[in-house]
Amino acid sequence: RREKAIAEKSVDNLRAPIICVLGHVDTGKTKMLDTIRRTNVQDGEAGGITQQIGATQVPRDAIVERCKQVREFRAADVKVPGFLIIDTPGHESFANLRSRGSSLCDFAILVVDLMHGLEQQTLESIKLLVKRHTPFVVALNKIDRLHMYESSPRKDVYVHLGTQANNVKLEFKKRYEEVVVQFAEQGLNVCLSNDKKKMADPDYIPMVPTSAYCGDGIGNLMAFIAEMAQSKYSDRLAFIEELDATVMEVKAIPGLGTTIDVILVNGRLKNNDIIVLSGIDGPIVSQIRDLKMPEPLRELRVKSEYRSFKEIQGAQGVKVLAKGMEKALAGLPLYVVNQADEIDLLQAECEAALSKALTS
Ligand code: GDP
Repeated sequence: RREKAIAEKSVDNLRAPIICVLGHVDTGKTKMLDTIRRTNVQDGEAGGITQQIGATQVPRDAIVERCKQVREFRAADVKVPGFLIIDTPGHESFANLRSRGSSLCDFAILVVDLMHGLEQQTLESIKLLVKRHTPFVVALNKIDRLHMYESSPRKDVYVHLGTQANNVKLEFKKRYEEVVVQFAEQGLNVCLSNDKKKMADPDYIPMVPTSAYCGDGIGNLMAFIAEMAQSKYSDRLAFIEELDATVMEVKAIPGLGTTIDVILVNGRLKNNDIIVLSGIDGPIVSQIRDLKMPEPLRELRVKSEYRSFKEIQGAQGVKVLAKGMEKALAGLPLYVVNQADEIDLLQAECEAALSKALTS
């Protein structure tokens, strides 16, 4: 079955890349998530952006809308169906999101405060990203703090920086060069994402100047990730039917009982599927009774009700309802039984995944 799924995969059918946000406290990770969720669309449907379980789905149209401002950006070139952005920022969350022993996140945004440079948790985040081989883009955030900077969130950030007063340009250059030196001290090469010459060298890590507060550079950041995803990582992002799902959280919900929040990377989950997952007292075998995601949001801040789905296709975040989830363990894979004689094998896989997680 695995071979068949792999043989059928195609770079013409990509899934949404899963993106995590990391960085030191107060660099603007939460603000960055809020800004990415916000759109210019005023029709109340939030541009099709949907809150999922533990993640936000930013569809292709919303990416295109945001990226229009970017010079050289061509909407027709966007091949990813969207971005799935994990809602809990920080390295603890990233560390817990494992799939098959490696990172569940396809890419990370490492937020650095331009005014402070690399800080303690930035360094910890870098170590973790390098260890897990997760490609990342640095958001050089808070550019609006440059003395006398004038914000313009609807312009290409590089074009816009070029039109700032000379002292703003000089301060940006000075601070950005300090960050380059600090990365070099960590043994890493970084450059601005519009530096075509350096970007041609795969050793360079891109940085995009942003203001999560004002919105400047967010289009450039999203355009860069979309472009990088499909030009360099289309093989990894080709959707396959083979299931790849990770339990992110185990949660008791009033009226629903104990549920599990699952990030479905590849394949599908269907109502009535028999599932196998790790639990405190050993592997748990159960049956999916319902798959839930929040209602589409009219008001992003309003806590909404859930909607039921018969089937979900990756990459998405989904709440799974099943009996006996009280002892389920987070951070580990979820399997679906396709043939009755597979149960033993999948239970053994659960044990193996658990012992691997405990030792890595
Ligand atoms: P987190 O701890 O990394 O999640 O940081 P937050 O998103 O909570 O941001 C910390 C503080 O920095 C908040 O007061 C934000 O309003 C502020 N902040 C975040 N991004 C920016 C930015 O781009 N510019 C400015 N001036 N302030 C920002």
